[in-house]
Amino acid sequence: MRYSLETLCVHSGTIDDRLTWGTRSPLFPSNSHKHLVAQEDLYPRHSNVANQRAVAEKLRDLEQGEKALVFSSGMAAISTALLSHLRHGDHLIMQKGIYSGTFRFAANHLPKIGVEVSLVAGSKRDDFLSQMRPNTRAIYIETPTNPLLEVLDIEMIAEVAALHGLTTFIDNTIATPINQTPIRYGIDIVLHSATKFLGGHGDITAGVAIGSESHILPMIEYVNDFGGCLNPQTCHLLERSLLTLAIRMAKVNENAMKLAVLLNEHPSVTAVHYPGLTSHPSHEVAKRQMAGFGGVLSFELDPRIDVTAFQNRLKLVVPANSMGEATTTLNSPFQASTSFRSLVAEQRRNVDVSHQLIRMSAGIEGFDDLSLDLLQALAP
Ligand SMILES: *Cc1c(COP(=O)(O)O)cnc(C)c1O
Repeated sequence: MRYSLETLCVHSGTIDDRLTWGTRSPLFPSNSHKHLVAQEDLYPRHSNVANQRAVAEKLRDLEQGEKALVFSSGMAAISTALLSHLRHGDHLIMQKGIYSGTFRFAANHLPKIGVEVSLVAGSKRDDFLSQMRPNTRAIYIETPTNPLLEVLDIEMIAEVAALHGLTTFIDNTIATPINQTPIRYGIDIVLHSATKFLGGHGDITAGVAIGSESHILPMIEYVNDFGGCLNPQTCHLLERSLLTLAIRMAKVNENAMKLAVLLNEHPSVTAVHYPGLTSHPSHEVAKRQMAGFGGVLSFELDPRIDVTAFQNRLKLVVPANSMGEATTTLNSPFQASTSFRSLVAEQRRNVDVSHQLIRMSAGIEGFDDLSLDLLQALAP
């Protein structure tokens, strides 16, 4: 029998404390191990120390994979995964609207090793099929996207890839395994920035890759050579965060849905982007492949509302650059030091982000308090 996600969050991967019989995983911070007695050449960069394995097992079970590896950031996971699976002469298809850091990595560094990259603008099967070349090796997607919350049909992508024998990557950061488990649909490698909802408290930087053994094991050599491993202390913190992932995401999903409805009815808001709304263009796809619609939404302020003044009026909701915290945060993708400010010109033309757009990441506060704060800040 498979345990529920709630139970896996709490129990999976926990290290047995044989010294003091504590109920929680002990922290083993050593980077050096007594080689005359150790069974293995344990070393953090080899991704084989106890706390790395404990948190990787929990994430493996939550994503229904066979093997997981943890990294020092989401970008370390993403770059290592791509470099492990692509060779000189290969062609990679990427979806438009992926995280700007991922786009920058692919655009700036993959061509240097002879990997060609194409961006797909649409979300239909033919949009992807039309990009196929004889040397196409992989498809990289992210769903839902940030900040426009576009949803891509994961099963369709897995089918297209299977037809052409391609490796598939998905960035599952926004959804989390509580809302979406892409391996079930045939995706090969699931990637996360654990800096966001998995960490969930705004205080760690980490990444993870999950998949079959045949897709993850080759990456061990690359993390060892490139060095993007995660230290035991942060593994221990991430493991503690994951104990509450399911209940945090349940509250985050609920708050985001209610916020989307509230904003959708507000006269100072001209549009709301959230896959949970029936008006969202891919609501049906989202309903099919997601157990919950996630914590990220975005909305357009009426042109009469000044974007900065609106943020300054907030008393509870925090204007901040990142997302996925216990605190509800928001920002204007064109302001502050968000990833979009650094988005290269080419992708900016590809992503229709308006200056009145606000991206919001729901936290776990009481909805009524969030609602009152937003209503007072939206009053013109
Ligand atoms: C933040 C983020 C990343 C990058 O993660 P880091 O931990 O900052 O390296 C990748 N993908 C998505 C969707 C993100 O939001």
